[in-house]
Amino acid sequence: MRGKVYLVGGGPGDPELLTIKAARVLRAADVVLHDALVSEAVLQTVRPHAQLIDVGKRMGRKGLAQDEINRLLIHVAGYASTVVRLKGGDPLVFGHAAEEMAALRNAGIEFEIVPGITAAVAAAAEARIPLTDRGSSSGVVLLTAQQAAGKPPVGVARFAAQNATLAIYMPGGHYREIATSLIAAGGSSETPCLIASNTSRDNRELLWTSLAGLCSIEPPEAPALLLIGEVARCRDQEAAVSVLAAVHASVEVQG
Ligand code: SAH
Repeated sequence: MRGKVYLVGGGPGDPELLTIKAARVLRAADVVLHDALVSEAVLQTVRPHAQLIDVGKRMGRKGLAQDEINRLLIHVAGYASTVVRLKGGDPLVFGHAAEEMAALRNAGIEFEIVPGITAAVAAAAEARIPLTDRGSSSGVVLLTAQQAAGKPPVGVARFAAQNATLAIYMPGGHYREIATSLIAAGGSSETPCLIASNTSRDNRELLWTSLAGLCSIEPPEAPALLLIGEVARCRDQEAAVSVLAAVHASVEVQG
């Protein structure tokens, strides 16, 4: 018997952000192979007697290599009927989905993708900012600061001044490097930036800054995502400031 493999997006952490289909598949799973990025709260929604296999990398501990994960997936699909490969966010965004799909295709195993909410979308929602804006941002670029081993680090500079929002995944400790290369390529040092750490989790954090500020920022806890562009102006803060200004003005008029 050959099982079916579901590549499922676990979203940013809050189980309420799982799709109905993801939640259903997790409740039906015989085996779940998950990454370190998947939150404990999402793992709690898995069918109680399902076999949980942690294949993720963590601080100080190497996870399985990608080809070991591919082999394990194929092995598990040989004995279990519903197999879930559970990833943080969306499985098709920086999730090694290409390698896993190729391995499953080669082995003749049926598979299906269940999308999830990717970190950039969840972070913008949490910060209550748009990712695109008719006036200031005509696109979003999903980028990573990390590259596959042996490849040169990705140049963010070519995306400076493109009138687009940059969503930088896995920024690691490279905030200064990213900011200086964007400024050198003509980006304004005043360009608003937002670092969203642990989006949708209890320990969530939003850090509002600018390209200049990024150079000296204390990196927040991982996982963190960096948004760069006019959309990343803190509108809530602006709203609060303008309400305060209106209050002061009316006090002055009355006084
Ligand atoms: N497939 C995932 C991305 C995997 S790469 C997705 O679609 O979101 C891992 C990176 O995703 C992290 O380094 C971080 O940049 C981002 N990320 C994932 N979950 C996050 C969260 N809850 N809060 C902030 N960033 C997150």
